[in-house]
Amino acid sequence: MKKMHIPVCEPFLAGNEKKYVVEALDTNWISSRGKFIDQFEKAFADFCEVKYATSVSNGTNAIHLGLKALDIRPGDEVIMPDFTMICSALPVCYLGAKPVFVDAEAETWNIDPEGIEEKITDKTKAIVVVHIYGHPCDMKPIWDISRRYNLLIIEDAAETHGAEYFGKKCGNLGDIAAFSFFANKVVTTGEGGMVVTNSDKLIDRSRYYKDLCFPLSGERTYFHEDIGFQYRLSNVQAAIGVAQIENINDYIEMRRNNNALYAEFLNDVEGIKFQPERKGCRNIYWMNAAVIDDDKFGINRDRLMEKLSEFGIQTRKFFVPMHKQPALQKYGCDCSAEYPIANWLSDNGLYLPSGSGLKVDQIEFICEKIKAMKRSI
Ligand SMILES: *Cc1c(COP(=O)(O)O)cnc(C)c1O
Repeated sequence: MKKMHIPVCEPFLAGNEKKYVVEALDTNWISSRGKFIDQFEKAFADFCEVKYATSVSNGTNAIHLGLKALDIRPGDEVIMPDFTMICSALPVCYLGAKPVFVDAEAETWNIDPEGIEEKITDKTKAIVVVHIYGHPCDMKPIWDISRRYNLLIIEDAAETHGAEYFGKKCGNLGDIAAFSFFANKVVTTGEGGMVVTNSDKLIDRSRYYKDLCFPLSGERTYFHEDIGFQYRLSNVQAAIGVAQIENINDYIEMRRNNNALYAEFLNDVEGIKFQPERKGCRNIYWMNAAVIDDDKFGINRDRLMEKLSEFGIQTRKFFVPMHKQPALQKYGCDCSAEYPIANWLSDNGLYLPSGSGLKVDQIEFICEKIKAMKRSI
């Protein structure tokens, strides 16, 4: 039996990463100052077509900092999708505010704009939109709600570097946005993140709180007026980021191409459905995410995962919805409402291997195994 080992998602470091890291080491600029920090922030802001970017130590901290910049406080309510990773919700709790969950829409798996209004109270301050698996949220109705109720919007764009909504890049669709550069994201720095915004006030607040609330201008005294965080990225990590950004458009094309290949090889297989690309949107297909309909496919998601792992094909289940998280139940979130779409996704969804560097013959191998499995049922 032919066997491969295909990881679910590997980083792709095929450019100047090593060269720039060595340069950072050789010049002794290994902490949070240095030319790669400045270059990375500038290049990332340009890429997102926003005015400002400030690098941070990871994506979760980027969301925390973004929410802090928006002045989210204890007692505030923040609306967010039920179907996401816990990184979107925890920072709301760090600030003493309350996450309020909205179910996903069945087509794109993002927050359902139609479920938002009924969750708004006089305590609601902001909406966290999370662009799931590479597909932008449906922003037009969300912009409309945010205007009518005076709510701020923060994007959790951890999974959508370069995705577009009617020609506008993710990161440029709200008041402030957070990115992650964890190893499986389209651009990685190992660990890392970025906060981006067009607002002078919000970038100043982000830079201020990121660096222990040292005064932003004037003498760097050791007097601190506010409780700050230490969320700085290092110049060594930024060196990796600069090299990654040089090739970001290629990486996005590779991910899109991978998804097109899966879709082509599996187009006659019933019961396996990939995330679509809705009109006006550019999905970057961060993950080759699929939902299994076991009636049509013949076996369920868990059995499919087991079978694929026998061939060395690594897969991963979708996120567990926020309302099912004991941490958030204990924190006092309302977890009693119904979230049928989030439950359906969580019970039936998996990612197939998705790294940028995946080879055509690997995708072919995976799809062959899926087809053979279906034939043998
Ligand atoms: C990866 C990710 C994050 C942030 O991850 P870090 O590991 O903290 O960089 C946040 N939200 C979502 C939806 C993610 O997928």
